[in-house]
Amino acid sequence: MDTPSPQDDELDLAVRVRADQLHLLYQQSFPAIFLSVVVAAVLCQMLWDGGRHALLIGWLALIGAGGFMRWALFWLHRRRRPEGLQILDWERSYAVTLFITTSLWGLGVLWISIESTLVEQLVSFMFLLGMAAGAFSHYSARRYMVVGAMGSILLPTIGLFLLSGQSMKLSLGVAALLYMGLLVRASTVLSRAQGENFALTHRLSAAKQKAELMAQTDELTGLDNRRAFFARGQTLANYCQRNKLPLSIAMIDADYFKQINDQHGHAVGDAVLCGLADLLRRSLRKSDVCGRMGGEEFAILLPDTSLLEATELAERFCRAYEATPTSSGGIEVRNTVSVGVACDGYDIEQLLQSADEALYLAKAAGRNRVVSELNVEAALA
Ligand code: GH3
Ligand code: MG
Ligand code: MG
Repeated sequence: MDTPSPQDDELDLAVRVRADQLHLLYQQSFPAIFLSVVVAAVLCQMLWDGGRHALLIGWLALIGAGGFMRWALFWLHRRRRPEGLQILDWERSYAVTLFITTSLWGLGVLWISIESTLVEQLVSFMFLLGMAAGAFSHYSARRYMVVGAMGSILLPTIGLFLLSGQSMKLSLGVAALLYMGLLVRASTVLSRAQGENFALTHRLSAAKQKAELMAQTDELTGLDNRRAFFARGQTLANYCQRNKLPLSIAMIDADYFKQINDQHGHAVGDAVLCGLADLLRRSLRKSDVCGRMGGEEFAILLPDTSLLEATELAERFCRAYEATPTSSGGIEVRNTVSVGVACDGYDIEQLLQSADEALYLAKAAGRNRVVSELNVEAALA
């Protein structure tokens, strides 16, 4: 499997940050749906006396329909509860429904107030400025949403003001442009800070996971280290004890390993240990716990495995290892292992000690063999 490059990591991080921002956006902006409808109703009420009623009702109905569409999206979102990166599929529908409603505001207010008095036009414009500020506070998690929402709300009226030729409207248009610019700048700063915060959280959690893994893993072979072996082993032992299952242990020690180091050097010795660890990994079940106990010693805990089964398994491993040479730096090294097997209770320390005693006998009996209570007499003979 290819290991991810730093660029892949950064890309992955950027996607995760985007997902976090979208989760925040969905949480943050739900009240904006109702606010939009209520504010539109208040504006219609203010323009009611001098305005065209059909126009006002039509616009309010459109805002209501837009609000309903947004509410339906949020309802679906709550029902489906997208998790993690799934939220990325919800971005487009969010943006589309948002820009439809904000455009209804920008173009609609222009439409309903175009024939109104100057005072009414100014009041309507104040409402638009308020809606733009609302967009800033509700959509700040995704900057382009703030910019798009504010632009579609304010730009139609600002454009009209700038083209009106009246100095007061011209000044208002320029001031509103400045106001928009400031809000866009503020939203850029805010969303960048939020993004950095999310990225930092992800980096910290990845670093924590890595540190935890390193604290449990033997650096050379990638197997569990002694500490992790005891921790996982205890959980396994408790499980077997609760369920009245036999628990066996095998202690494996490379034979005459010092000679390999002496003859071929430490690097070849390391490669031989890695080869031994690889074969162990390939020979075991998922439920087994396997660790490097130190130097050239390994241990395996075998749940739901009787002494006979464990002895047979160890025997097969012995023969397989004997037939599997390790190649390193153009040198091929053949080696053997001795194994001690035990199955007497659920205390890991006690099991290790019993297996160690059996291993000692296997060494004494000539190495490259398995000793357990089942064959101890034959081994001693
Ligand atoms: P026996 O058959 O009795 O087990 O003999 P042995 O030579 O395997 O055992 P001994 O305990 O005399 O030597 C173990 C050697 O393993 C000594 C030590 O330098 C070496 N060793 C321990 N850890 C490592 C390691 O991480 N890499 C390498 N290359 N050698 C290691
Ligand atoms: Mg040894
Ligand atoms: Mg040893």
